[in-house]
Amino acid sequence: MLKIRLSPEVYRTIENACLRARERETGGMLFAEHVAEEEFLVLEATVAGTGSVAGFLRALGDGLTRLERFFRRTRHDYRRYNYIGEWHSHPSFALQPSWRDDETMHDIVSDPSTGALFAVSVIVKIENDALTAKAWAYFPNGERSDCEVVVEAHA
Ligand SMILES: [Zn+2]
Repeated sequence: MLKIRLSPEVYRTIENACLRARERETGGMLFAEHVAEEEFLVLEATVAGTGSVAGFLRALGDGLTRLERFFRRTRHDYRRYNYIGEWHSHPSFALQPSWRDDETMHDIVSDPSTGALFAVSVIVKIENDALTAKAWAYFPNGERSDCEVVVEAHA
């Protein structure tokens, strides 16, 4: 089973985004370091805007800038540091992918231009003042498997 670790910085980014979005869904991209055979440490999470096209385009721009910065900082070592997937919140329903979540992730992972071997979907919500997360890995052959998520709340 793939193990997905969220760094304290990523934890705070996601938690703050969820708190700001309140009952609306929010989400973004995840960038991770491949730290062991089946283990990834998420080092960066972007936050996409909610609700408007302008917000979405701005978020996309921010995402690309952060992507460039991430690759520059990690010296374009794509085998070790790369895009790993997406995160989004389910503020008012269960931490389980919807059919639309499944469809989105299958689209991402089966896009031949990305050449991805897999993509991870992390779904989060704030429960009892704490961020809880679950994750699934999607493969180009259409399979979906559970991941283990480790949230590292504090450094
Ligand atoms: Zn969803």
